[in-house]
Amino acid sequence: DKYLSGLGRSRKSFGDRLRALSNSFNGVNDELLEQIMIILLESDVGIHTAQKIVDQFEESASHIRDYDSMEDYFISILHDFYNQESDEDIQYNENGPTVIFMVGVNGSGKTTSSAKLIKYYQDQNLSVAVAAADTFRAGAVDQIATWADRLGVPCIKGKPNQDPSSVLVDACRYAKEHQIDILLADTAGRLQTKTNLMKELSKMVRVCDREIEGAPHEVWLVLDATTGQNGISQAREFLEATSVSGIILTKMDGTAKGGVVLAIRDSLHIPVRFLGLGEKPEDLKPFEINSYLMGITK
Ligand code: GDP
Repeated sequence: DKYLSGLGRSRKSFGDRLRALSNSFNGVNDELLEQIMIILLESDVGIHTAQKIVDQFEESASHIRDYDSMEDYFISILHDFYNQESDEDIQYNENGPTVIFMVGVNGSGKTTSSAKLIKYYQDQNLSVAVAAADTFRAGAVDQIATWADRLGVPCIKGKPNQDPSSVLVDACRYAKEHQIDILLADTAGRLQTKTNLMKELSKMVRVCDREIEGAPHEVWLVLDATTGQNGISQAREFLEATSVSGIILTKMDGTAKGGVVLAIRDSLHIPVRFLGLGEKPEDLKPFEINSYLMGITK
């Protein structure tokens, strides 16, 4: 299973270390709570979130006498912690193309994630097109165009430095005309200042909505899991610039910091929609809390 193999490094730092506590298990006491705290911190859950989890665990764990019940109970606490907020389903447009914006800093895995999503939706027999709206970065347009070509989907692109909004208008019109189900828009990583980013993104939102009602239907922020807590501060900047409806957490295969999922949940209040578990188009998994917890523990 991809979840299990892709999360191997996090499992070593989290699951294996948790299980190591079975050797010295002597009830739920301060020492155990401290050990659990350390395991959470080392998987990059972050101090505030880790403290909340430990508190919730401690609250009703005093009756636990054996390690296995402790482990099960702890995992159920993590599960409930994630599910404290309920998520809306992904918004798909019933009356035309669904437009999805991909945002995130350069290097986060935005383009690779777009390629993965092309494949994900193709596998569901949906028609896909991409808009190469990252017209500022040399190479970005070529990179997404190459993926689109390889996966056999149309790519609407502009000229270097063309206004990304005008590329999006072309792409929306193309999508309507050709009855495309999913239009993925690869947008610019970061502009010089936050004000620029804000202006650019709100213009893109405006022009899309004019072409296709309710578009963009989803805005997904791509975050590199290996950046851990720094990624979360980065995310906040994007949240100030636009309304983000989901997170794609990439490079989960290359990090032991899998706990960042819980930190994101607790500090950004945005659902994690997908995990990136490798560099190939098939290395994408819809996020699902049970599979994820299995992946980092068992
Ligand atoms: P962008 O600048 O945000 O568009 O980033 P790219 O999509 O070009 O990705 C940057 C690098 O990260 C590339 O070398 C990708 O192959 C790699 N990458 C992206 N996602 C993943 C992932 O989930 N796992 C691994 N191991 N590498 C990834």
